[in-house]
Amino acid sequence: MASESNAPSGAPVKHFIQQRVEGDLASGKYAARRWGGKPGPLASHAGAAPDPAKIRTRFPPEPNGYLHIGHAKSILLNFGLARDNGGVCHMRFDDTNPEKEEQAYVESILDTVRWLGFDFGPNDERLFFASDYFDWMYEFAECLIEHGDAYVDSQTAEEMRANRGTLTEHGVDSPFRTRTPAENLALFREMRDGKHADGAHVLRAKVDMKSPNINLRDPAIYRIKRATHHRTGDKWCIYPMYTYAHPIEDALENITHSICTLEFEDQRPFYDWLLEKLAQHGKLQRPLPQQIEFARLKITHTVMSKRFLLKLVEEKYVEGWDDPRMPTLAGARRRGFTPEGFRLFAERIGVSKADSWIDPSVLEDCMREHLNETAPRRVAVLDPLKLVITNFPNSHVETCEAPNHPQKPEWGKRTMPLTREVWIEREDFAPAPPKGYFRLFPGNSVRLKYGFVVKCTGFRQNEAGDVVEVHCEYFPDSKSGTPGADGYKVKGVIHWVSAAHAHECEVRLTDRLFRAAHPGKDTGNYLDDLNRESLKALRACLEPSLGEAAPGSRFQFERHGYFIAEGAGGSAAFLRTVTLRDSWAAKS
Ligand code: ATP
Ligand code: MG
Repeated sequence: MASESNAPSGAPVKHFIQQRVEGDLASGKYAARRWGGKPGPLASHAGAAPDPAKIRTRFPPEPNGYLHIGHAKSILLNFGLARDNGGVCHMRFDDTNPEKEEQAYVESILDTVRWLGFDFGPNDERLFFASDYFDWMYEFAECLIEHGDAYVDSQTAEEMRANRGTLTEHGVDSPFRTRTPAENLALFREMRDGKHADGAHVLRAKVDMKSPNINLRDPAIYRIKRATHHRTGDKWCIYPMYTYAHPIEDALENITHSICTLEFEDQRPFYDWLLEKLAQHGKLQRPLPQQIEFARLKITHTVMSKRFLLKLVEEKYVEGWDDPRMPTLAGARRRGFTPEGFRLFAERIGVSKADSWIDPSVLEDCMREHLNETAPRRVAVLDPLKLVITNFPNSHVETCEAPNHPQKPEWGKRTMPLTREVWIEREDFAPAPPKGYFRLFPGNSVRLKYGFVVKCTGFRQNEAGDVVEVHCEYFPDSKSGTPGADGYKVKGVIHWVSAAHAHECEVRLTDRLFRAAHPGKDTGNYLDDLNRESLKALRACLEPSLGEAAPGSRFQFERHGYFIAEGAGGSAAFLRTVTLRDSWAAKS
């Protein structure tokens, strides 16, 4: 929930990052920045105009997977802060690791961010790729070497690990730490030129092997890796490490507030060390970006680690990355979740430094809230049982009217044909009613919603004893909306679809992918907690107008929840986005 504040009641609560931004704007901390219109080191900004953006934030995914619900929090936070504070947010692919990155992920990520409602300016002027800065990163590395702030280490990986020390013991200097800048420069250029094997050397920042913070014990900043990069191809055989690349990306893009999740807190001292050095050496302009950490979004009953999600896809526990049960944003979108619902969610959960678990019902509630406002109502019978109105004229079609939204008369009404045989929900009939049951049972009357009152006269069973047909008689003067219809006092109202006109189609019901709140916590394997019944397909009978539903359109099926039309044309199926109420709360 949003953190405490002194805001007058009614005013939106400002989270700590918003407060920080406002403080920086008030103090003019970033007022002196200049912007040449394109990322570049200090030199390219000489003579540039003052930065027109008051703040710059960025959303920096690595293109190595699909975005998940956690990313939505980061996207809404970064783009939202920029929008609310006269700034801009950069869409930046943090693609400095050549091994796991793919163009397909780039496309999917862009698509998702746009879907959430953000753009990157005319001609995508705020769309960036970290790999475009490889030349500068390399130049800056040489600069650090020349100033004695970096050295080439030729220890083996094991030696390096052993000499790094532990949380309680400080590290030991590498025997190569005393190489001269000239030696280091020559070696580093040989690394770049492909003269050394992968892993033979690394370039390390020369900070402090005795620092209590392990991240400051001469972190590696460049490694040799012969790998083809999705954008730079085989141009490089050395690649910068994340800890080195990320601060530089931020600085080159004039980022003011570099917002990340809490696990990077211990890396902030190196972030500051590096940028300070490069500013001192005249490579970067001041003021420098600042890193600010917040608690990542953690949701129960799911997994969000890319590794776990990949396994679900590869081993076919789900239909793909966009399976509606997946916590990916592509999955959420297919399931019918809306960008507006995500926005509501982001506001509701707030931003803080305190780690906490959020129940998926919080997100589902936000979707319900938005869909309740925006989804037209329709009728669907998901578990059809035939009801025969025995005194209804054989070929007669009675036109009934139903509002498209009960609270929005301006949305108008649609018509539903009522005929002698209709489908009702199996659960709306009981041959022997339990106590408190108000729906159909022999001798009882109910209203067919938007239609007539009917009285149950009997039913038919098959040899196995299953009810296969229910019989009733209707009262011709009881039609909803006609004079005198109110005179019929019935406790139960049930929904129905004309059997002669029903649009029969597949309806898929989704449920949580994992039964346990923390998958794998008790069993050691998250797959053990998979909910095997998380996707059910039914043959349902829908009101005829749904036969023309465009793919992607959303409806409330009365009593059943919110649904989205999937697939194209005649093959369309409907998928349940969310039930009308939190069914899990009721279960537990
Ligand atoms: P991995 O799944 O390998 O940990 P990642 O989820 O951190 O990767 P990135 O591509 O590095 O993926 O994330 C892009 C941005 O989204 C980062 O700024 C990161 O801090 C943020 N982010 C990632 N997961 C969450 C989360 N659960 N809640 C909030 N922000 C997140
Ligand atoms: Mg990451």
